[in-house]
Amino acid sequence: MQNNSNAGITAPLPVTTTSEAIPAISKAGPFSRGLEWPIVVFLGIVHVMAVALCIAFPSWNGFWLFLALYLVTGLGVTVGYHRKITHQSFRSPLWFEYVLSVLGMLAGEGPPIFWAAIHRQHHKHSDTEDDPHSPHDGFWWAHTLWMLPKIRRAELGRMYRACAPDLARNRFYMSLEGTYLYWHAGLALTLFLVGWAMGSWSTGMSFLAYGYFLRMVVVLHATWMVNSVSHKWGYRTYGTDDNSRNNAVVALFAHGEGWHNNHHHSPVAANHGHHWWEYDLSFLAILFVALLSRPLGWIGLKQWRPISDVRVYTPKTQKVQIWFRS
Ligand SMILES: [Zn+2]
Ligand SMILES: [Zn+2]
Repeated sequence: MQNNSNAGITAPLPVTTTSEAIPAISKAGPFSRGLEWPIVVFLGIVHVMAVALCIAFPSWNGFWLFLALYLVTGLGVTVGYHRKITHQSFRSPLWFEYVLSVLGMLAGEGPPIFWAAIHRQHHKHSDTEDDPHSPHDGFWWAHTLWMLPKIRRAELGRMYRACAPDLARNRFYMSLEGTYLYWHAGLALTLFLVGWAMGSWSTGMSFLAYGYFLRMVVVLHATWMVNSVSHKWGYRTYGTDDNSRNNAVVALFAHGEGWHNNHHHSPVAANHGHHWWEYDLSFLAILFVALLSRPLGWIGLKQWRPISDVRVYTPKTQKVQIWFRS
C-alpha cells in the first residue's frame, strides 16, 4: 500500500465540478403537477410483489440468492453510483466503472445520470430549500415521496447538464436512460429461468421473489434511510453546514453509507467510516479490489487495474491521502 501523507485533497483524478446555477426540482406544491406514474407504478409493483411472492414461494435457496444480490447490487450503488461516478473517490478504467454502474442500476434507484445529478445537488444544497430530499420537508418526503411528483423532461435535461455534464456526455450512460426497464426485465426473467432450470416452476418464482423483488425493497430502503434517517438521527463528528448524522444502523444496512456526517465533511473520500469502529463495507470492498489488482501494475498492465488512486480521509491529519497510486 502506498500512502503519501503529504498528499492534499488535490488528487490526480478527474475532479467533477458542478455549475453554480443548479436548477432545483420544484417543491412548491410538488404534487399539484401530478405524479410521475412510471416511478409510482414501478415502486408499487416491487413492494406488493415482494410481500406476496415471498409468502407464496418461500425457499432457503431464494433467501441465499437474496443475500448475494443484496450485497452485489447494494455495492453497485455505494461503490459504483456514489463513490465512483458521483464523487470520483478512486480511479477506474471505464469498463469497470460501467460494470459497477450496471450493478447499481439493477438496485432500482434509477439510471446513473439521474442518481448522480440528484445526489450532487443534495451535496451542494444540503438541508436547504434547494435540497431535493431533506427531512426539513418531512421524514417521508426525504425517504421516498420526493421522487414521486411529475418530472418535466426539460427540467430533467437542465439538471443533467448542470449537475452531471461529465456523465451526460457519455454515450453509454445516456443509453441506460432509455433501456433502464429492459435491463430490469432481463434480470427478472433470468432469475426466473435459472430457478426453473435448477428445480421447478415454483423454484423460479422463489428466485424472482427473493432475488429480485425482496432484495430490491431492502436495498431501496437502506439507501433511502441515508437521505432520511442519516439527516435526522445519529451523532455528529464534524460541524458541517447541514444536519447530516453518523448512524450505525444505516451504515450496517447500507454497506457503510450511514456515516453520513463524515461523508458530508469529506465528500471525495472513499472511506465514509473515519474510525475503526465505523464499519464501512464499501470501503473494505474498494481496498480489497485495489490490493488484489495491484500486482497488475508491476507486470505492465496497470491500465487493467480496476481500482487505483483511492482517496482516503485521515482524521488525524484532516487530509485526503492517495492510496494505491497508479
Ligand atoms: Zn446527505
Ligand atoms: Zn455523496
